[in-house]
Amino acid sequence: MLDKITDLLMFRLPTEEDSHSTEPKVTTGSIIWGVLLRSAILIVVITLLLESLNLRQHWWLMLFAIWFGAAYPAWDQYRKFQERIKSFQEETLCGSCIHFELNSQLCKIYDEHVSTQYIPCEGLNWEPRQPDSQD
Ligand code: SF4
Repeated sequence: MLDKITDLLMFRLPTEEDSHSTEPKVTTGSIIWGVLLRSAILIVVITLLLESLNLRQHWWLMLFAIWFGAAYPAWDQYRKFQERIKSFQEETLCGSCIHFELNSQLCKIYDEHVSTQYIPCEGLNWEPRQPDSQD
């Protein structure tokens, strides 16, 4: 549990390890949770800080903090996640299957994470994916 919270807070960058694991650390869901968690913490901390320093009129500092502390790192992480998933798709059978869910590295039929080492259906349910499909 603590590991999971640390991962969300740190915005760990996607690594090739995630492609070989059935418990990838970085997915679209983890990125969204990371943004929400960091934004909530920043809002609370900055509100308390502005209140205690009696600088309420500088509320716009919060926007900068959210951009640099949560939104920008998330965008960077998402960009790198997309690059990793693109190469995952090229390297694996699941990557070219219509049942593969890109955003979470998941097989929609088995509701399990797939990896370079693990294909839940062992190829039996594979169906070709449309070349430009974003599902
Ligand atoms: S149906 Fe089989 S090949 Fe397709 S994503 Fe699921 S496990 Fe992979």
